Amino acid sequence: MIASLDVRTLAVVALIVFMSITAILLLVFFTRRVYPGFRGWLLWQICITLGMLAFALRGPDPPPIQMMLITGVLLLAPTFLYDGLIRFYGVYQSIWPSGLNYLLVAMVLAVEWYFAYVAPDLDGRIVAYSLTRAALMFRCAIEPLQVAAARRSPSFLSLVVIMVAVSINDLHHAWVAMQPGPIVDLIESDSVRRALLSGVAGDVLAAYVLLLLNSERLEAELRAARHDIELLARTDSLTGLWNRRHFEDTVETEIERARRYGTPLSLLTLDADHFKRINDSHGHHVGDDVLREIARLLGLQIRRSDLLCRWGGEEFMVLVPETDGDRAAAMAEKIRERVAAHEFDGVGRVTVSIGVGQAGPHETADAWLRRVDAALYEAKLQGRNRVVLADGPAVAVPVA
Ligand code: GH3
Ligand code: MG
Ligand code: MG
Repeated sequence: MIASLDVRTLAVVALIVFMSITAILLLVFFTRRVYPGFRGWLLWQICITLGMLAFALRGPDPPPIQMMLITGVLLLAPTFLYDGLIRFYGVYQSIWPSGLNYLLVAMVLAVEWYFAYVAPDLDGRIVAYSLTRAALMFRCAIEPLQVAAARRSPSFLSLVVIMVAVSINDLHHAWVAMQPGPIVDLIESDSVRRALLSGVAGDVLAAYVLLLLNSERLEAELRAARHDIELLARTDSLTGLWNRRHFEDTVETEIERARRYGTPLSLLTLDADHFKRINDSHGHHVGDDVLREIARLLGLQIRRSDLLCRWGGEEFMVLVPETDGDRAAAMAEKIRERVAAHEFDGVGRVTVSIGVGQAGPHETADAWLRRVDAALYEAKLQGRNRVVLADGPAVAVPVA
């Protein structure tokens, strides 16, 4: 069946396919976000298209020099593909691994010249070309696997399968050409027809996977950016602590967890004393520095499982799991002492008042926060620089 296909028609069909893929890659290259290496993939495709153009436009009996040019362009294609993949995955810093490919192509062209003009041997030329392409495709498939990102990418692994298949196909060509027997016609032979068909299939698949690799990286980049934005939206820019939004999102979960496991959960509400005076006498910038310093001191005093946030202004919250009110009050007292003993640059002493309270077994987050805030208010009323433990939540007395 394959013998009935006209090679020239096949070549024109292949050319149309290659030109379409080149157009798509060009469009992506100029209009989309592309990553290092994409330029190499584009050059790979352009070489294939040019090689096929020259092959399709050849005369009935092309001179060896023309076939050599086609060979050269077709061999440059996998070297560019290699450069692209190596750059995309950042496999090497050195240019030598790529340089070797160009050296190899130059050597093979010299061999082709020898078999074309010095000792004409068509089989020799086919063997030289096929073995070189097999080696280049094999390097494309294997060397990026040194990088974990390539090993983990199902898309790249499918490209490895395609490239190894192309490589094996080339080895088969070389082996057939090495067999003794009549010299095959370079143009009108079944092996050329098969090479054209498999070339088209391999190229379409490979180009598709390369586009996929590019868009996968874009997706990963977008995912990371979204993660950063979400983190930013939950972080206080002045102190680097969690912000109120994160606290509000977390507090319900923590209450639920504490209820499910029957463990106590406490809250500290901390407010800097007479902070307005600091701003007024030293300026807003110094006030900011003091807030950062208070945040740092708080960070030193809490456990990893505690949730520390800047509630707003000069007010901070610490959510303390697995800790009852008394122990939380003791912790608050340590924090208060630590801040009061600290020498703030350019300001001297700064004190804080802290309200503390343990969540009631049936209390809503809102009611609990209000109760602890009332304790903080009480601490301010009692003269500041102190800790006040909130009374337990009001218990509804059943009506007799
Ligand atoms: P009290 O002891 O009653 O808490 O007195 P206070 O002065 O600390 O309380 P007040 O609520 O009257 O003032 C809080 C001050 O905190 C006023 C505001 O300008 C300042 N403040 C709030 N946020 C920031 C901030 O991000 N940076 C600076 N530098 N100051 C802030
Ligand atoms: Mg204050
Ligand atoms: Mg305040």
